[in-house]
Amino acid sequence: MMLSNIFAKVVPLLKEKKFDIDYDALAKFLERYKPGDWLYPDAMHRNLKMNIKTVYEILELCVEMKSLEQYLQIYCPHCQKYTGQYYKTIAEIPDEINCLHCDYEILNPLNHAIIIYKVL
Ligand SMILES: [Zn+2]
Repeated sequence: MMLSNIFAKVVPLLKEKKFDIDYDALAKFLERYKPGDWLYPDAMHRNLKMNIKTVYEILELCVEMKSLEQYLQIYCPHCQKYTGQYYKTIAEIPDEINCLHCDYEILNPLNHAIIIYKVL
């Protein structure tokens, strides 16, 4: 099996910073991701039972290593789904968004923004 690009690049850095994590489990998790895929911090948190703060720290390192790119996505408070639009910066988020799934008008979408990562 081919070793994940993300993992190969970031693991020496993680070891250097002495993260107390299960590297085998992390490798297995990241292996499933291909360039162009979206990685949700919450999925990593749930799958690896990893502290959410640690998850973000690792993902931020991946961004620094240019393995991942950070985006924002809006979570619909009405139907509990993601609206499907991706934003590169906070400034790109409109003042209101209509949910593609339930047509709910999301006011202050920034309050419902979550950080997701695109695999490069
Ligand atoms: Zn909705």
